[in-house]
Amino acid sequence: MATTLVILGASGDLTKRLLMPALYRLHTLGLTRDLRIVGYAKESWSREYFERHIQKALQSFAPDYKPAQWNRFRRQLDYVGGELQADQLRALKDKLSPATLFYLALPPSLFGTAASALGEAGFAKAPRNGWRRLIVEKPFGTDLASAQALRQTMHAHWQEEQILRIDHFLGKETTQNLMVFRFANRFIEPIWNAQHIAQVQITYAETLGVEKRAAYYDKAGALRDMLQNHLMQLFSLTAMAPLAEWDPEVLRNHKVEVLRSTLPITPATVDGHAVRGQYRAGQMGRKKVPGYRSEPDIARGSSTETFAALRLEIDNWRWRGVPFYLRSGKRLATNYSEIAVQFREVPGALPKAVHAGNNWMIFRIRPTEQMDLLVTAKRPGLELAGRPVVLTAPYASPEDREFSAYEQLLTDAIGGDRTHFLRFDEVEWAWKLLTPVLEAWQSGTPDFYAAGSEGPASQQRLLDPGHAWRS
Ligand code: NDP
Repeated sequence: MATTLVILGASGDLTKRLLMPALYRLHTLGLTRDLRIVGYAKESWSREYFERHIQKALQSFAPDYKPAQWNRFRRQLDYVGGELQADQLRALKDKLSPATLFYLALPPSLFGTAASALGEAGFAKAPRNGWRRLIVEKPFGTDLASAQALRQTMHAHWQEEQILRIDHFLGKETTQNLMVFRFANRFIEPIWNAQHIAQVQITYAETLGVEKRAAYYDKAGALRDMLQNHLMQLFSLTAMAPLAEWDPEVLRNHKVEVLRSTLPITPATVDGHAVRGQYRAGQMGRKKVPGYRSEPDIARGSSTETFAALRLEIDNWRWRGVPFYLRSGKRLATNYSEIAVQFREVPGALPKAVHAGNNWMIFRIRPTEQMDLLVTAKRPGLELAGRPVVLTAPYASPEDREFSAYEQLLTDAIGGDRTHFLRFDEVEWAWKLLTPVLEAWQSGTPDFYAAGSEGPASQQRLLDPGHAWRS
């Protein structure tokens, strides 16, 4: 079916670095033949100027850029200049197909304005033979109240089913593999519970500092930037119950159920459930790096956290007694992200030398996508002794064709598959759970850690006896 994708904010960074390279790759694979892409931004560019802008972007950001392919892709492009006002947006009217998506590639402060203006222009109403969808970038609100207000603004014109909220972690191969691995293997489900699992650690650790995102980051901090959205999504996918029906609404109900069953953090319990840190100057390998407060565009006395760790507990039959530790930080010693599940000790009598530690199942997301199962096997020799062995399964084989998160999500949005998009109640519950933490962190200062370290020492207080942070 002929479809139009209108990108609002088409002169911006997201369009240039991620959306257009993804659309170009889908085009080269023949997956978007009937798609027309209309850029919309306040610049009064001609179509030719927009094409040149996108061509330059693809030359830098599309690894498979080829002039012949570009010449075919460019025919799909169009451009309209205008402000985010209904009367100006109406200039798009003749460019739309019965099936049209609007992508808000705009600063989050403009999501409400743009959704309203599109509605007032009459674009939210689907024609009889088609549909209208609205793709919204992250973040959705900066706290519970602003997220609820934004939802209300959007719902004045758009139905919840029309809104596709992006969390690009849900477009990642390894995130989707989590569901497949959990539910398509007979041996996993019977042991995926508190009887067999001791703890879960979900980590996104970066060696990078704030780089070019200082102005945004200093207002957001690690909790809003990484935990409220991405890590909470990994948390609910790891903990949710198996689906009775493979359906986007059932899936999202199950994810919400996890959040609803998570014990609320209260002002009195924040310290036992949340730790914040901020990096000071330190050594990253051979390089000396400045502290957060000395970075360009960061307020000198800023108390924004560059590290956040949470301890979450789910009070249901499956998970009571299993702490879920979520952690993300900048300027840490290692660049990696993973979901690591530790199993309980084995019962029964075994010679001491056989014990080589508990089993771990690790879903690695960065730097490489792979699954590791840490098991104990006999150490060769005359003695009956054990040693840890890692069974590694690389996620992809050389012959596999992998897709980026934006390639996946754009394909799903065009195809109308909501599985990997956020429903409002998921966003709302994540904000509800974290609001007491955000409120508590409005005063005081984070605990400092040296750049290049494992984060603040105070994170130890979140752990149960016998548990240790992975590194
Ligand atoms: P940009 O700051 O590059 O701006 C995006 C677009 O918004 C541009 O076209 C810009 O126009 C337009 N814009 C800015 N202010 C106004 C205004 N007052 N009225 C009308 N248009 C305006 O943002 P990004 O492209 O980086 O980000 C867009 C969205 O994508 C954000 O929600 C961000 O959180 C999300 N995102 C971005 C990523 C990235 O890597 N950039 C990654 C993941 C998500 P102009 O160019 O004229 O200023």
